[in-house]
Amino acid sequence: MYDTFNGSAHPRSPREIAIAAMPGDERVWVPQAEGVWFRPLFLNTLQGQWCNLLRVRRAGILSRHLHPQPVHGYVIKGRWHYLEHDWVAETGSYVFEPPGEIHTLTVPADCEEMITFFNISGCMVYLDEANRQVGFEDVFTKIDMCRRHYEKVGLGADYIEQFIR
Ligand code: FE
Repeated sequence: MYDTFNGSAHPRSPREIAIAAMPGDERVWVPQAEGVWFRPLFLNTLQGQWCNLLRVRRAGILSRHLHPQPVHGYVIKGRWHYLEHDWVAETGSYVFEPPGEIHTLTVPADCEEMITFFNISGCMVYLDEANRQVGFEDVFTKIDMCRRHYEKVGLGADYIEQFIR
């Protein structure tokens, strides 16, 4: 047993997180693009990793991207697919996205809303059709986006702190 304490967690263990993933307060959703939001759940600065919900209320191509580390997804609502694959991720689907794959996230026209939980390591590298990098996101750009949004909507910039380890 650990020898430094008598409680239920080691004193150097990070705090746990247990929250409503989809609370009634719309302000937790951070706008990402037209018709696209994310809801941060866990922002891991030690391993460069984050968990969030992605919510999309528009159809068509969202992004073409590469991630050099693995991504795990679980579809909570709606459906989506990658142009490069013939499968469709729909409500209840689990998806593993291998490191090094380039794919183009697309929501079909008959899907009014999709919500997917993503566990993303490393970064998202956004690419154009010629595979030239046009942007990137990592846990730190996510934190910055959240801080700006939560300050603007009145939750306060520090609202994001509860999700950061
Ligand atoms: Fe992906």
